[in-house]
Amino acid sequence: MAAADVRPLPTAVPVAIIGAGFGGIAAAHELRRTGIDHILLERADRVGGTWRDNTYPGCACDIPSHLYSLSWAPNPNWSRRFAPAAEIDAYLAEVADREQLTDRLFTGVDVGSAHWSAETSTWRLETSRGRVDCRVLVVAAGGLSQPNIPDIPGLADFPGPVLHTAHWDAAVPLEGLRVGVVGTGASAIQLVPAIVDRVSALTVFQRTPAWIFPRDDRQIPRWRQRLYARWPVSQRIVREGQYWRRELVVHAMVSRLGLLERAAEQARRRLATEVRDRDLRSRLEPDYLPGCKRALLSDDFYRTVGRDRVQVVGALERVAGRQAVTVDGDRHELDVLVLATGFEVLPPPMANRVFGLDGVSVAADWVDRGGAFLGMATAAAPNLFWLTGPNTGLGGNSMIVMIEAQARYLAQAAAAALAGDPENPRVLAVSPVVQRRYTNWIEQRMAGTVWQLGGCNSWYLDENGRVAAIWPEQTWRYRRMTRTFRSVHYEQRTPCTDR
Ligand code: NAP
Repeated sequence: MAAADVRPLPTAVPVAIIGAGFGGIAAAHELRRTGIDHILLERADRVGGTWRDNTYPGCACDIPSHLYSLSWAPNPNWSRRFAPAAEIDAYLAEVADREQLTDRLFTGVDVGSAHWSAETSTWRLETSRGRVDCRVLVVAAGGLSQPNIPDIPGLADFPGPVLHTAHWDAAVPLEGLRVGVVGTGASAIQLVPAIVDRVSALTVFQRTPAWIFPRDDRQIPRWRQRLYARWPVSQRIVREGQYWRRELVVHAMVSRLGLLERAAEQARRRLATEVRDRDLRSRLEPDYLPGCKRALLSDDFYRTVGRDRVQVVGALERVAGRQAVTVDGDRHELDVLVLATGFEVLPPPMANRVFGLDGVSVAADWVDRGGAFLGMATAAAPNLFWLTGPNTGLGGNSMIVMIEAQARYLAQAAAAALAGDPENPRVLAVSPVVQRRYTNWIEQRMAGTVWQLGGCNSWYLDENGRVAAIWPEQTWRYRRMTRTFRSVHYEQRTPCTDR
Protein backbone atom coordinates (compact mmCIF):
# COMPACT_ATOMS: atom_id res chain seq x y z
CA MET A 1 0.00 0.00 0.00
CA ALA A 2 1.37 3.45 -0.94
CA ALA A 3 1.86 6.14 1.72
CA ALA A 4 -1.12 8.48 2.06
CA ASP A 5 -0.87 11.57 -0.17
CA VAL A 6 -1.10 14.58 2.13
CA ARG A 7 -0.14 17.36 -0.28
CA PRO A 8 -2.84 20.03 -0.51
CA LEU A 9 -4.77 19.98 -3.77
CA PRO A 10 -4.33 23.02 -5.99
CA THR A 11 -7.54 25.02 -5.97
CA ALA A 12 -7.42 26.07 -9.63
CA VAL A 13 -5.78 24.33 -12.58
CA PRO A 14 -6.09 24.53 -16.35
CA VAL A 15 -6.94 20.82 -16.74
CA ALA A 16 -8.04 18.18 -14.24
CA ILE A 17 -8.13 14.49 -15.14
CA ILE A 18 -10.28 12.16 -13.07
CA GLY A 19 -8.83 8.65 -12.88
CA ALA A 20 -5.29 7.32 -13.25
CA GLY A 21 -5.70 4.07 -15.13
CA PHE A 22 -4.69 3.61 -18.77
CA GLY A 23 -6.97 6.50 -19.79
CA GLY A 24 -5.71 9.01 -17.23
CA ILE A 25 -2.09 8.11 -17.87
CA ALA A 26 -2.49 8.42 -21.64
CA ALA A 27 -4.27 11.78 -21.24
CA ALA A 28 -1.63 13.11 -18.83
CA HIS A 29 1.13 12.02 -21.22
CA GLU A 30 -0.42 13.85 -24.17
CA LEU A 31 -1.14 17.01 -22.15
CA ARG A 32 2.41 17.02 -20.88
CA ARG A 33 3.74 16.60 -24.41
CA THR A 34 1.58 19.51 -25.49
CA GLY A 35 2.89 21.62 -22.59
CA ILE A 36 -0.47 21.92 -20.82
CA ASP A 37 -0.48 22.05 -17.05
CA HIS A 38 -2.81 19.51 -15.49
CA ILE A 39 -3.45 17.38 -12.43
CA LEU A 40 -4.51 13.74 -12.14
CA LEU A 41 -7.02 12.91 -9.43
CA GLU A 42 -7.20 9.28 -8.33
CA ARG A 43 -9.51 7.89 -5.65
CA ALA A 44 -7.24 4.93 -4.84
CA ASP A 45 -3.75 5.21 -3.40
CA ARG A 46 -1.90 4.69 -6.68
CA VAL A 47 -2.28 4.47 -10.45
CA GLY A 48 -3.48 1.30 -12.20
CA GLY A 49 -7.25 1.45 -12.72
CA THR A 50 -8.89 -1.83 -13.51
CA TRP A 51 -5.56 -3.68 -13.36
CA ARG A 52 -4.97 -2.47 -9.82
CA ASP A 53 -8.51 -3.33 -8.74
CA ASN A 54 -8.95 -6.75 -10.34
CA THR A 55 -6.81 -9.20 -8.41
CA TYR A 56 -8.94 -12.34 -8.62
CA PRO A 57 -7.01 -15.56 -9.30
CA GLY A 58 -6.36 -16.07 -13.00
CA CYS A 59 -6.96 -12.42 -13.91
CA ALA A 60 -5.11 -11.60 -17.11
CA CYS A 61 -5.64 -9.69 -20.28
CA ASP A 62 -7.26 -11.40 -23.25
CA ILE A 63 -5.65 -9.02 -25.73
CA PRO A 64 -1.97 -9.81 -26.49
CA SER A 65 0.42 -7.85 -24.27
CA HIS A 66 2.34 -6.14 -27.09
CA LEU A 67 -0.92 -4.67 -28.32
CA TYR A 68 -2.36 -4.07 -24.88
CA SER A 69 0.26 -1.49 -23.96
CA LEU A 70 0.83 2.15 -24.77
CA SER A 71 2.44 2.58 -28.18
CA TRP A 72 4.82 5.19 -26.76
CA ALA A 73 5.86 2.93 -23.87
CA PRO A 74 6.55 -0.54 -25.29
CA ASN A 75 7.54 -3.15 -22.76
CA PRO A 76 10.03 -5.68 -24.12
CA ASN A 77 9.79 -7.72 -20.91
CA TRP A 78 6.22 -9.01 -21.04
CA SER A 79 6.48 -12.48 -19.57
CA ARG A 80 3.59 -14.02 -21.47
CA ARG A 81 1.61 -13.57 -24.64
CA PHE A 82 -1.33 -12.54 -22.44
CA ALA A 83 0.09 -10.72 -19.43
CA PRO A 84 -1.32 -11.41 -15.96
CA ALA A 85 -3.10 -8.49 -14.28
CA ALA A 86 -0.33 -7.89 -11.72
CA GLU A 87 2.20 -7.43 -14.52
CA ILE A 88 0.01 -4.88 -16.31
CA ASP A 89 -0.50 -3.07 -13.01
CA ALA A 90 3.28 -2.93 -12.45
CA TYR A 91 3.77 -1.75 -16.05
CA LEU A 92 1.39 1.18 -15.54
CA ALA A 93 3.10 2.18 -12.30
CA GLU A 94 6.46 2.08 -14.03
CA VAL A 95 5.26 4.10 -17.02
CA ALA A 96 3.72 6.76 -14.76
CA ASP A 97 6.95 7.00 -12.83
CA ARG A 98 9.23 7.05 -15.84
CA GLU A 99 7.15 9.74 -17.56
CA GLN A 100 7.12 11.75 -14.32
CA LEU A 101 3.34 11.77 -14.45
CA THR A 102 3.24 11.10 -10.72
CA ASP A 103 4.42 14.68 -10.01
CA ARG A 104 0.95 15.85 -10.92
CA LEU A 105 -0.88 12.89 -9.40
CA PHE A 106 -3.02 13.34 -6.28
CA THR A 107 -4.23 10.10 -4.73
CA GLY A 108 -6.99 9.40 -2.23
CA VAL A 109 -9.14 11.98 -4.03
CA ASP A 110 -12.71 10.85 -4.56
CA VAL A 111 -14.52 13.22 -6.89
CA GLY A 112 -18.10 13.46 -5.61
CA SER A 113 -19.38 15.84 -8.27
CA ALA A 114 -18.38 18.26 -11.00
CA HIS A 115 -20.51 21.25 -11.96
CA TRP A 116 -20.05 23.59 -14.90
CA SER A 117 -20.23 27.24 -13.93
CA ALA A 118 -21.43 29.45 -16.78
CA GLU A 119 -20.44 32.46 -14.67
CA THR A 120 -16.76 31.63 -14.56
CA SER A 121 -16.50 29.16 -17.46
CA THR A 122 -14.92 26.59 -15.20
CA TRP A 123 -15.68 23.18 -13.86
CA ARG A 124 -15.98 23.03 -10.09
CA LEU A 125 -15.04 19.67 -8.59
CA GLU A 126 -16.13 18.74 -5.09
CA THR A 127 -13.72 16.09 -3.87
CA SER A 128 -13.02 14.21 -0.67
CA ARG A 129 -9.94 16.41 -0.28
CA GLY A 130 -11.47 19.75 -1.12
CA ARG A 131 -12.63 21.86 -4.02
CA VAL A 132 -10.82 22.20 -7.36
CA ASP A 133 -11.71 24.52 -10.24
CA CYS A 134 -10.49 23.71 -13.73
CA ARG A 135 -11.03 25.13 -17.19
CA VAL A 136 -11.03 21.76 -18.95
CA LEU A 137 -12.21 18.52 -17.40
CA VAL A 138 -11.10 15.10 -18.59
CA VAL A 139 -12.98 12.12 -17.19
CA ALA A 140 -10.96 8.93 -17.37
CA ALA A 141 -12.77 7.10 -14.59
CA GLY A 142 -13.11 3.92 -16.67
CA GLY A 143 -16.11 2.12 -18.03
CA LEU A 144 -15.57 -1.02 -16.00
CA SER A 145 -14.92 0.27 -12.51
CA GLN A 146 -18.13 -0.05 -10.52
CA PRO A 147 -18.95 -3.71 -9.75
CA ASN A 148 -22.44 -4.81 -10.67
CA ILE A 149 -24.01 -6.50 -7.65
CA PRO A 150 -27.11 -8.28 -8.94
CA ASP A 151 -30.33 -7.84 -7.06
CA ILE A 152 -30.70 -11.45 -5.94
CA PRO A 153 -33.19 -12.03 -3.12
CA GLY A 154 -31.52 -13.40 0.00
CA LEU A 155 -28.00 -12.55 -1.13
CA ALA A 156 -27.41 -10.11 1.73
CA ASP A 157 -28.24 -12.87 4.25
CA PHE A 158 -25.89 -15.50 2.83
CA PRO A 159 -23.96 -16.59 5.93
CA GLY A 160 -20.60 -17.11 4.19
CA PRO A 161 -18.29 -14.65 2.42
CA VAL A 162 -19.61 -13.02 -0.75
CA LEU A 163 -16.89 -11.72 -3.07
CA HIS A 164 -17.05 -9.80 -6.34
CA THR A 165 -14.27 -10.56 -8.81
CA ALA A 166 -13.40 -6.84 -8.99
CA HIS A 167 -13.10 -6.62 -5.18
CA TRP A 168 -11.28 -9.83 -4.51
CA ASP A 169 -10.17 -10.56 -0.95
CA ALA A 170 -7.27 -13.00 -0.98
CA ALA A 171 -7.67 -13.48 2.79
CA VAL A 172 -10.93 -15.36 2.28
CA PRO A 173 -9.99 -19.06 2.30
CA LEU A 174 -11.37 -21.29 -0.44
CA GLU A 175 -9.45 -24.43 0.46
CA GLY A 176 -11.70 -27.46 0.76
CA LEU A 177 -14.87 -25.34 0.59
CA ARG A 178 -17.96 -25.42 -1.60
CA VAL A 179 -17.73 -22.36 -3.80
CA GLY A 180 -20.36 -20.93 -6.14
CA VAL A 181 -19.38 -18.67 -9.05
CA VAL A 182 -22.16 -16.56 -10.57
CA GLY A 183 -21.60 -15.75 -14.23
CA THR A 184 -19.69 -17.09 -17.23
CA GLY A 185 -18.24 -13.87 -18.64
CA ALA A 186 -14.60 -12.90 -19.19
CA SER A 187 -13.82 -12.75 -15.46
CA ALA A 188 -15.52 -16.05 -14.55
CA ILE A 189 -13.83 -18.11 -17.22
CA GLN A 190 -10.43 -16.96 -15.95
CA LEU A 191 -11.33 -17.47 -12.29
CA VAL A 192 -12.92 -20.92 -12.48
CA PRO A 193 -9.85 -22.84 -13.77
CA ALA A 194 -7.60 -20.88 -11.37
CA ILE A 195 -9.45 -21.93 -8.20
CA VAL A 196 -10.76 -25.37 -9.08
CA ASP A 197 -7.90 -27.22 -7.38
CA ARG A 198 -8.37 -25.33 -4.13
CA VAL A 199 -12.05 -26.03 -3.55
CA SER A 200 -13.98 -29.20 -2.71
CA ALA A 201 -16.87 -28.37 -5.03
CA LEU A 202 -17.42 -25.63 -7.57
CA THR A 203 -20.87 -24.65 -8.79
CA VAL A 204 -20.98 -22.33 -11.80
CA PHE A 205 -24.26 -20.44 -12.20
CA GLN A 206 -24.65 -19.83 -15.90
CA ARG A 207 -27.38 -17.63 -17.34
CA THR A 208 -26.05 -17.41 -20.89
CA PRO A 209 -23.21 -19.54 -22.27
CA ALA A 210 -20.30 -17.73 -23.90
CA TRP A 211 -18.49 -18.49 -27.14
CA ILE A 212 -15.03 -19.63 -26.14
CA PHE A 213 -12.06 -19.77 -28.50
CA PRO A 214 -8.50 -21.04 -27.86
CA ARG A 215 -6.26 -18.54 -26.14
CA ASP A 216 -2.97 -20.16 -26.96
CA ASP A 217 -1.20 -18.40 -24.14
CA ARG A 218 2.49 -19.05 -23.67
CA GLN A 219 5.61 -17.67 -22.12
CA ILE A 220 7.68 -15.21 -24.11
CA PRO A 221 11.20 -16.63 -24.16
CA ARG A 222 14.15 -14.60 -22.91
CA TRP A 223 15.72 -14.39 -26.36
CA ARG A 224 12.61 -12.67 -27.70
CA GLN A 225 12.55 -10.21 -24.82
CA ARG A 226 16.19 -9.40 -25.54
CA LEU A 227 15.39 -8.99 -29.23
CA TYR A 228 12.57 -6.54 -28.44
CA ALA A 229 14.79 -4.58 -26.06
CA ARG A 230 17.62 -4.39 -28.55
CA TRP A 231 15.54 -3.78 -31.70
CA PRO A 232 12.28 -2.13 -30.63
CA VAL A 233 11.20 -2.19 -34.26
CA SER A 234 10.82 -5.98 -34.01
CA GLN A 235 8.25 -5.55 -31.24
CA ARG A 236 6.47 -2.88 -33.25
CA ILE A 237 6.17 -5.28 -36.17
CA VAL A 238 4.67 -7.97 -33.90
CA ARG A 239 2.26 -5.40 -32.47
CA GLU A 240 1.16 -4.25 -35.91
CA GLY A 241 0.55 -7.87 -36.94
CA GLN A 242 -1.60 -8.44 -33.86
CA TYR A 243 -3.47 -5.20 -34.47
CA TRP A 244 -4.36 -5.91 -38.09
CA ARG A 245 -5.35 -9.53 -37.38
CA ARG A 246 -7.83 -8.16 -34.84
CA GLU A 247 -9.05 -5.57 -37.30
CA LEU A 248 -9.99 -8.45 -39.61
CA VAL A 249 -12.00 -10.03 -36.80
CA VAL A 250 -13.73 -6.69 -36.21
CA HIS A 251 -14.46 -6.49 -39.95
CA ALA A 252 -16.39 -9.76 -39.65
CA MET A 253 -18.30 -8.42 -36.65
CA VAL A 254 -19.15 -5.21 -38.45
CA SER A 255 -20.16 -6.42 -41.87
CA ARG A 256 -19.39 -10.07 -42.62
CA LEU A 257 -21.62 -11.93 -40.20
CA GLY A 258 -21.41 -15.06 -42.36
CA LEU A 259 -17.78 -15.41 -41.26
CA LEU A 260 -18.97 -15.46 -37.66
CA GLU A 261 -21.16 -18.48 -38.47
CA ARG A 262 -18.01 -20.23 -39.64
CA ALA A 263 -16.18 -19.26 -36.44
CA ALA A 264 -19.13 -20.61 -34.45
CA GLU A 265 -18.82 -23.93 -36.29
CA GLN A 266 -15.15 -24.18 -35.33
CA ALA A 267 -15.91 -23.35 -31.71
CA ARG A 268 -18.67 -26.01 -31.66
CA ARG A 269 -16.22 -28.61 -32.93
CA ARG A 270 -13.77 -27.69 -30.20
CA LEU A 271 -16.52 -27.89 -27.60
CA ALA A 272 -17.38 -31.36 -28.87
CA THR A 273 -13.79 -32.58 -28.49
CA GLU A 274 -13.20 -31.03 -25.10
CA VAL A 275 -16.53 -31.77 -23.41
CA ARG A 276 -17.58 -35.38 -23.78
CA ASP A 277 -20.75 -35.16 -21.69
CA ARG A 278 -23.58 -34.51 -24.12
CA ASP A 279 -25.85 -32.76 -21.62
CA LEU A 280 -23.11 -30.44 -20.37
CA ARG A 281 -22.08 -29.74 -23.95
CA SER A 282 -25.56 -28.66 -24.94
CA ARG A 283 -25.73 -26.35 -21.94
CA LEU A 284 -22.42 -24.74 -22.92
CA GLU A 285 -23.42 -24.06 -26.51
CA PRO A 286 -24.54 -20.49 -27.17
CA ASP A 287 -27.53 -19.75 -29.41
CA TYR A 288 -26.37 -16.38 -30.72
CA LEU A 289 -23.56 -15.25 -33.03
CA PRO A 290 -20.00 -15.07 -31.64
CA GLY A 291 -19.03 -11.49 -30.85
CA CYS A 292 -22.58 -10.40 -30.00
CA LYS A 293 -21.42 -10.78 -26.42
CA ARG A 294 -17.66 -10.58 -25.99
CA ALA A 295 -16.14 -13.76 -27.45
CA LEU A 296 -13.90 -15.26 -24.79
CA LEU A 297 -10.49 -16.88 -24.95
CA SER A 298 -9.56 -19.81 -22.76
CA ASP A 299 -7.39 -22.89 -23.01
CA ASP A 300 -8.74 -24.56 -19.88
CA PHE A 301 -12.34 -23.55 -19.11
CA TYR A 302 -14.01 -26.48 -20.91
CA ARG A 303 -11.61 -28.99 -19.41
CA THR A 304 -12.25 -27.51 -15.97
CA VAL A 305 -16.03 -27.62 -16.10
CA GLY A 306 -15.84 -31.25 -17.22
CA ARG A 307 -14.20 -32.23 -13.91
CA ASP A 308 -16.12 -34.18 -11.26
CA ARG A 309 -16.03 -31.49 -8.64
CA VAL A 310 -17.51 -28.86 -11.02
CA GLN A 311 -21.16 -28.42 -11.95
CA VAL A 312 -22.58 -25.94 -14.44
CA VAL A 313 -26.11 -25.09 -13.37
CA GLY A 314 -28.77 -22.52 -14.30
CA ALA A 315 -28.87 -18.85 -13.39
CA LEU A 316 -28.95 -17.95 -9.73
CA GLU A 317 -32.45 -16.83 -8.78
CA ARG A 318 -32.31 -16.50 -5.01
CA VAL A 319 -30.34 -17.41 -1.95
CA ALA A 320 -31.91 -19.12 1.04
CA GLY A 321 -29.45 -19.34 3.91
CA ARG A 322 -26.51 -21.38 2.62
CA GLN A 323 -28.49 -22.62 -0.33
CA ALA A 324 -28.28 -21.04 -3.73
CA VAL A 325 -31.45 -21.68 -5.71
CA THR A 326 -31.36 -21.67 -9.51
CA VAL A 327 -34.12 -20.68 -11.91
CA ASP A 328 -34.88 -24.40 -12.32
CA GLY A 329 -35.44 -24.71 -8.58
CA ASP A 330 -32.25 -26.73 -7.92
CA ARG A 331 -30.60 -26.02 -4.58
CA HIS A 332 -26.86 -25.92 -4.04
CA GLU A 333 -25.30 -25.72 -0.59
CA LEU A 334 -22.36 -23.29 -0.58
CA ASP A 335 -19.71 -21.92 1.78
CA VAL A 336 -18.49 -19.04 -0.40
CA LEU A 337 -20.27 -17.14 -3.15
CA VAL A 338 -18.33 -15.32 -5.87
CA LEU A 339 -20.06 -12.78 -8.08
CA ALA A 340 -18.41 -12.66 -11.49
CA THR A 341 -21.30 -10.47 -12.58
CA GLY A 342 -19.49 -7.63 -14.31
CA PHE A 343 -19.84 -3.88 -13.98
CA GLU A 344 -22.28 -1.01 -14.06
CA VAL A 345 -21.51 0.26 -17.51
CA LEU A 346 -24.46 2.21 -18.93
CA PRO A 347 -24.19 4.82 -17.76
CA PRO A 348 -20.88 4.73 -15.87
CA PRO A 349 -21.57 6.03 -12.34
CA MET A 350 -19.41 9.15 -12.84
CA ALA A 351 -21.73 10.34 -15.65
CA ASN A 352 -24.42 10.86 -13.02
CA ARG A 353 -22.10 13.07 -11.02
CA VAL A 354 -20.99 15.49 -13.73
CA PHE A 355 -23.43 18.33 -14.46
CA GLY A 356 -23.15 20.67 -17.45
CA LEU A 357 -25.24 23.60 -18.69
CA ASP A 358 -28.44 24.12 -16.70
CA GLY A 359 -27.36 21.43 -14.25
CA VAL A 360 -28.09 18.60 -16.71
CA SER A 361 -26.11 15.45 -15.89
CA VAL A 362 -23.88 14.04 -18.59
CA ALA A 363 -25.68 10.69 -18.27
CA ALA A 364 -29.04 12.36 -19.01
CA ASP A 365 -27.56 14.36 -21.85
CA TRP A 366 -26.11 11.23 -23.48
CA VAL A 367 -29.53 9.58 -23.33
CA ASP A 368 -31.24 12.68 -24.76
CA ARG A 369 -28.81 13.04 -27.62
CA GLY A 370 -28.24 9.34 -28.29
CA GLY A 371 -24.56 9.41 -27.30
CA ALA A 372 -21.57 11.73 -27.39
CA PHE A 373 -19.58 13.24 -30.27
CA LEU A 374 -16.67 10.84 -30.86
CA GLY A 375 -17.75 9.30 -27.56
CA MET A 376 -16.04 12.22 -25.83
CA ALA A 377 -17.95 15.49 -26.06
CA THR A 378 -21.55 16.46 -25.54
CA ALA A 379 -23.25 19.78 -26.28
CA ALA A 380 -24.50 20.37 -22.74
CA ALA A 381 -21.07 19.97 -21.14
CA PRO A 382 -18.55 22.49 -22.49
CA ASN A 383 -14.82 21.93 -22.14
CA LEU A 384 -15.40 18.34 -21.08
CA PHE A 385 -13.78 15.29 -22.68
CA TRP A 386 -14.75 11.78 -21.67
CA LEU A 387 -12.50 8.80 -22.23
CA THR A 388 -14.03 5.41 -23.10
CA GLY A 389 -17.43 7.14 -23.33
CA PRO A 390 -20.49 6.05 -25.34
CA ASN A 391 -19.88 3.87 -28.40
CA THR A 392 -16.13 3.68 -28.00
CA GLY A 393 -15.85 0.25 -26.36
CA LEU A 394 -14.47 -2.66 -28.37
CA GLY A 395 -15.35 -6.29 -28.66
CA GLY A 396 -12.48 -7.35 -30.86
CA ASN A 397 -9.42 -5.13 -30.57
CA SER A 398 -7.30 -3.39 -27.93
CA MET A 399 -8.94 -0.56 -25.98
CA ILE A 400 -5.54 1.06 -25.69
CA VAL A 401 -5.78 2.00 -29.37
CA MET A 402 -9.01 3.90 -28.70
CA ILE A 403 -7.69 5.46 -25.50
CA GLU A 404 -4.57 6.77 -27.23
CA ALA A 405 -6.64 8.26 -30.06
CA GLN A 406 -8.85 10.00 -27.50
CA ALA A 407 -5.88 11.27 -25.50
CA ARG A 408 -4.30 12.82 -28.59
CA TYR A 409 -7.57 14.44 -29.57
CA LEU A 410 -8.36 15.89 -26.17
CA ALA A 411 -4.87 17.35 -25.81
CA GLN A 412 -5.49 19.29 -29.05
CA ALA A 413 -8.93 20.30 -27.82
CA ALA A 414 -7.56 21.43 -24.46
CA ALA A 415 -4.90 23.49 -26.24
CA ALA A 416 -7.65 25.17 -28.28
CA ALA A 417 -9.77 25.84 -25.21
CA LEU A 418 -6.86 27.28 -23.28
CA ALA A 419 -5.44 29.39 -26.09
CA GLY A 420 -5.79 33.12 -25.96
CA ASP A 421 -6.57 35.51 -23.17
CA PRO A 422 -6.80 33.79 -19.75
CA GLU A 423 -9.08 36.65 -18.63
CA ASN A 424 -11.54 35.78 -21.34
CA PRO A 425 -11.27 32.00 -21.64
CA ARG A 426 -12.72 30.08 -24.51
CA VAL A 427 -15.59 27.70 -24.04
CA LEU A 428 -15.82 24.80 -26.48
CA ALA A 429 -19.18 23.09 -26.71
CA VAL A 430 -19.73 20.62 -29.49
CA SER A 431 -22.39 21.82 -31.89
CA PRO A 432 -25.71 19.98 -31.29
CA VAL A 433 -26.06 19.57 -35.04
CA VAL A 434 -22.64 17.96 -35.35
CA GLN A 435 -23.39 15.70 -32.40
CA ARG A 436 -26.74 14.64 -33.88
CA ARG A 437 -25.18 13.95 -37.28
CA TYR A 438 -22.52 11.86 -35.59
CA THR A 439 -24.92 9.83 -33.43
CA ASN A 440 -27.12 9.20 -36.48
CA TRP A 441 -24.09 7.88 -38.30
CA ILE A 442 -23.30 5.58 -35.34
CA GLU A 443 -26.83 4.24 -35.41
CA GLN A 444 -26.68 3.62 -39.14
CA ARG A 445 -23.35 1.84 -38.91
CA MET A 446 -24.55 -0.24 -35.97
CA ALA A 447 -27.58 -1.52 -37.88
CA GLY A 448 -25.70 -4.26 -39.74
CA THR A 449 -23.33 -5.35 -36.98
CA VAL A 450 -23.24 -8.43 -34.81
CA TRP A 451 -23.94 -6.30 -31.75
CA GLN A 452 -27.31 -5.36 -33.22
CA LEU A 453 -28.17 -8.52 -35.15
CA GLY A 454 -26.32 -11.23 -33.23
CA GLY A 455 -29.33 -12.37 -31.23
CA CYS A 456 -28.08 -11.83 -27.69
CA ASN A 457 -28.73 -9.61 -24.73
CA SER A 458 -25.47 -8.01 -23.63
CA TRP A 459 -24.15 -5.25 -21.42
CA TYR A 460 -23.40 -3.32 -24.61
CA LEU A 461 -27.11 -2.42 -24.80
CA ASP A 462 -28.71 0.40 -22.85
CA GLU A 463 -32.11 0.18 -21.24
CA ASN A 464 -33.77 1.10 -24.54
CA GLY A 465 -32.03 -1.74 -26.37
CA ARG A 466 -29.65 0.62 -28.19
CA VAL A 467 -26.05 -0.59 -28.58
CA ALA A 468 -24.52 2.24 -26.57
CA ALA A 469 -21.18 0.80 -25.52
CA ILE A 470 -19.55 -0.36 -28.73
CA TRP A 471 -17.74 1.34 -31.60
CA PRO A 472 -19.51 0.05 -34.72
CA GLU A 473 -16.52 0.05 -37.07
CA GLN A 474 -12.92 -1.01 -37.37
CA THR A 475 -10.70 1.00 -35.06
CA TRP A 476 -8.51 2.54 -37.78
CA ARG A 477 -11.57 4.59 -38.70
CA TYR A 478 -11.90 6.00 -35.19
CA ARG A 479 -8.19 6.83 -35.19
CA ARG A 480 -8.64 8.70 -38.45
CA MET A 481 -11.71 10.58 -37.27
CA THR A 482 -10.00 11.73 -34.07
CA ARG A 483 -6.58 12.51 -35.54
CA THR A 484 -7.22 16.23 -35.83
CA PHE A 485 -9.32 18.37 -33.54
CA ARG A 486 -11.51 20.53 -35.78
CA SER A 487 -12.81 23.66 -34.15
CA VAL A 488 -15.63 23.88 -36.72
CA HIS A 489 -17.30 21.04 -34.85
CA TYR A 490 -17.55 23.24 -31.79
CA GLU A 491 -19.41 26.37 -30.87
CA GLN A 492 -16.85 28.66 -29.33
CA ARG A 493 -18.21 30.99 -26.75
CA THR A 494 -16.90 33.44 -24.26
CA PRO A 495 -18.24 33.58 -20.71
CA CYS A 496 -20.50 36.48 -21.78
CA THR A 497 -22.27 34.50 -24.51
CA ASP A 498 -22.43 31.41 -22.34
CA ARG A 499 -24.68 32.93 -19.69
P1 NAP B 1 -19.70 -9.72 -17.79
O1 NAP B 1 -19.09 -10.02 -19.09
O2 NAP B 1 -20.73 -8.66 -17.69
O3 NAP B 1 -20.27 -11.08 -17.27
C1 NAP B 1 -21.15 -11.14 -16.17
C2 NAP B 1 -21.67 -12.54 -16.08
O4 NAP B 1 -22.55 -12.62 -14.96
C3 NAP B 1 -22.49 -12.91 -17.31
O5 NAP B 1 -22.20 -14.24 -17.64
C4 NAP B 1 -23.93 -12.74 -16.81
O6 NAP B 1 -24.87 -13.51 -17.51
C5 NAP B 1 -23.73 -13.26 -15.41
N1 NAP B 1 -24.83 -13.04 -14.47
C6 NAP B 1 -25.33 -11.88 -14.00
N2 NAP B 1 -26.31 -12.15 -13.13
C7 NAP B 1 -26.44 -13.51 -13.07
C8 NAP B 1 -27.30 -14.44 -12.36
N3 NAP B 1 -28.25 -14.03 -11.52
N4 NAP B 1 -27.11 -15.78 -12.53
C9 NAP B 1 -26.15 -16.21 -13.37
N5 NAP B 1 -25.33 -15.39 -14.07
C10 NAP B 1 -25.49 -14.07 -13.92
O7 NAP B 1 -18.61 -9.38 -16.66
P2 NAP B 1 -17.07 -9.76 -16.59
O8 NAP B 1 -16.86 -11.20 -16.87
O9 NAP B 1 -16.53 -9.21 -15.33
O10 NAP B 1 -16.48 -8.96 -17.81
C11 NAP B 1 -16.84 -7.61 -18.04
C12 NAP B 1 -15.95 -7.04 -19.08
O11 NAP B 1 -14.71 -6.79 -18.50
C13 NAP B 1 -15.67 -7.94 -20.26
O12 NAP B 1 -16.66 -7.93 -21.25
C14 NAP B 1 -14.37 -7.38 -20.73
O13 NAP B 1 -14.60 -6.26 -21.55
C15 NAP B 1 -13.72 -6.97 -19.44
N6 NAP B 1 -12.81 -8.02 -18.98
C16 NAP B 1 -11.72 -8.21 -19.72
C17 NAP B 1 -10.84 -9.15 -19.36
C18 NAP B 1 -9.65 -9.32 -20.21
O14 NAP B 1 -9.04 -10.35 -20.15
N7 NAP B 1 -9.30 -8.32 -21.03
C19 NAP B 1 -11.02 -9.94 -18.23
C20 NAP B 1 -12.15 -9.72 -17.47
C21 NAP B 1 -13.04 -8.75 -17.86
P3 NAP B 1 -25.53 -12.95 -18.87
O15 NAP B 1 -24.50 -13.18 -19.92
O16 NAP B 1 -26.75 -13.75 -19.06
O17 NAP B 1 -25.82 -11.49 -18.64
